[in-house]
Amino acid sequence: LAKKQGHLPLDVIQEPDREVESRRSETESALREAVARGEIETWYQPIVDLQDGGAATVVATEALARWRRPATGIMMPGDFIALAEESGLIADIGQAVLNQACLAATALDGVIVSVNVSARQFARDDFGAVVRQALEMSGLPSDRLCLELTESVVVEAIEYAAATLHDLRELGVRLAIDDFGTGYSSFTQLRTFTFDLLKIDMTFIQGIEESGRDRGVVEGILRLADVLHLDVIAEGIETAGQRDLLREMGCRYGQGYYFSRPSPTAHPTLVSHT
Ligand code: C2E
Ligand code: MG
Ligand code: MG
Ligand code: MG
Repeated sequence: LAKKQGHLPLDVIQEPDREVESRRSETESALREAVARGEIETWYQPIVDLQDGGAATVVATEALARWRRPATGIMMPGDFIALAEESGLIADIGQAVLNQACLAATALDGVIVSVNVSARQFARDDFGAVVRQALEMSGLPSDRLCLELTESVVVEAIEYAAATLHDLRELGVRLAIDDFGTGYSSFTQLRTFTFDLLKIDMTFIQGIEESGRDRGVVEGILRLADVLHLDVIAEGIETAGQRDLLREMGCRYGQGYYFSRPSPTAHPTLVSHT
């Protein structure tokens, strides 16, 4: 009996695939229309100084894409970025977020705005021009824009990476490695490319209170960053305990729900812990 159940007729196996496929293409055309109608919004999450005696000064803010769907409500990047990558829509989405973020940052006194860049966006040969245009249109000084690249972004664009990074350096924007530690070539990147800062992935931060190993990894990253003169942001800080440990370990900057969730306004408001 067990063996019989293992042999499903082909149409039973393929049925769900067709359904998934048609839902996917429906979502894709909805996303395409949303992009055209300007329905991709940018939300912002503050990045704070952990080493200023508890003041938690906001030094930067990360721009995060949101898709406001009339019928469904807010859709998170986890539900549409991959699709946007596959369909090529990511270039337009990324550009919309970049333009909105630069413009919003001009109203923030000295605060840096940090924008995520996808592999496909980064690999385009007009990427440097797109960034220059966003800066020119907004009037934002280039040193107030930070571009967050994941390790895979640079690896996947390996043919263009050096030239594009050079263009971006010339423009004077800051460069960050996002989700540091989760990629497959962290150390190669550190040897080969020049970045300004590392963002330690939240999966490491979330274990530091319980796990000595996680603490050890974070300490190692902090020491490495120090030697290479890179700034460090710890992502995904959710508790006072995590913040305290990071402070003791000498981590300069932090981001996470403990300070603030992403919000539709670029003007930072921090959660008050009294
Ligand atoms: P990311 O760049 O690593 O952004 C940080 C993500 O962690 C955000 O999720 C943020 O809301 C979430 N986060 C921040 N603090 C905490 C915390 O304390 N706890 C937890 N559990 N989560 C926290 P979000 O906004 O859903 O974005 C997810 C990912 O989607 C981003 O990860 C980024 O890789 C991608 N993404 C977002 N916006 C864009 C965009 O405009 N372009 C591209 N290419 N990717 C984007
Ligand atoms: Mg990011
Ligand atoms: Mg990240
Ligand atoms: Mg991430």
